[in-house]
Amino acid sequence: MPSKQENTEEKKEAAQKPIEDEDLGVYWDLFSAKTAIDGQDGGVVSALLVKGLREGLFDSAIVVRRVEGYCAEAVVAQTAEEVLAAKGTKYLRVDVTKKLREIISQGKNRIAIVCTPCQAGTTRKIQQTTDCEVTIIGLFCYECFKHDKLKEALQARLGVDLDSVGKTQVRQGKFTAQVEDREVSCKVRDLHGASEVACGFCDDFTSRLADVSVGSVGSKPGYSTVIVRSKFGEQLVHGLEADIAPADKQEIAKISKFKKQRAQNSLLTTRKPDLAQLSE
Ligand SMILES: Cc1cc2nc3c(=O)[nH]c(=O)nc-3n(C[C@H](O)[C@H](O)[C@H](O)COP(=O)(O)OP(=O)(O)OC[C@H]3O[C@@H](n4cnc5c(N)ncnc54)[C@H](O)[C@@H]3O)c2cc1C
Ligand code: SF4
Repeated sequence: MPSKQENTEEKKEAAQKPIEDEDLGVYWDLFSAKTAIDGQDGGVVSALLVKGLREGLFDSAIVVRRVEGYCAEAVVAQTAEEVLAAKGTKYLRVDVTKKLREIISQGKNRIAIVCTPCQAGTTRKIQQTTDCEVTIIGLFCYECFKHDKLKEALQARLGVDLDSVGKTQVRQGKFTAQVEDREVSCKVRDLHGASEVACGFCDDFTSRLADVSVGSVGSKPGYSTVIVRSKFGEQLVHGLEADIAPADKQEIAKISKFKKQRAQNSLLTTRKPDLAQLSE
């Protein structure tokens, strides 16, 4: 039996090591939070950006803002007002890493970026080839949509114009859109033809390469699930003003596994390459 002193040493050592989880990736902390910001879920992403800018952890943040109808683009926010103007999820693929390269080439070197898991990987690669400090806030992501296909699908299914909707939300298999003072919804499954084909091959649900990952799965409505993955992330989250609750790890693990399985199935059902053609 280990002595009391050995036990204490083990506990100390464990506290200095992150958890390595097969489904969630590497992390130090996992919880659910609701801030004073009325964001997509608990407003945690916007609150962290405002906090990071205020504390000087970075001086620019790459966020995604709606520009025309539901179309969105990557923009640079340097004030709390600019961060808040970009709150809310746009379920589209927006090229945030192009914006990152652009502002690095303009001399910016203390940057935060909000991105999907696939873009977190690209951002890490960019970070390795520059001397910039980049803080990655990675969103959970199961899939994203093509604007034109989603517009067609919503018109056909729900009789609404995507470019005139307010907030959109994907939760528990349901796609909901705010249309003036009412909500319309359908099953996400029914919009399948509108999603990006590449997403079917993607196996990262929780942004495993981010400093902090944020999503809604694992939390009750109005709360964000937060996964703190790096010391940088810990510094950013430390002192966040929010109502904190435990997150449901099993729920996150379930969707992560599901996404991995989907990627594997996509690969298995991909047409066998024609080797004769490849060697031509
Ligand atoms: C394409 C996509 C799919 C998602 N799918 C899921 C899912 O299946 N399950 C789940 O739990 N969560 C998913 N999320 C994350 C979830 O919708 C919320 O963004 C997250 O919970 C943060 O909420 P919040 O209230 O803290 O964010 P807020 O404080 O409202 O801030 C949201 C931030 O996200 C940025 N943003 C918005 N759209 C994009 C975009 N397309 N690309 C990059 N940044 C963007 C905004 O600029 C803003 O900074 C998805 C997000 C995206 C972009
Ligand atoms: S599902 Fe994967 S590839 Fe598609 S947007 Fe999300 S992270 Fe990127």
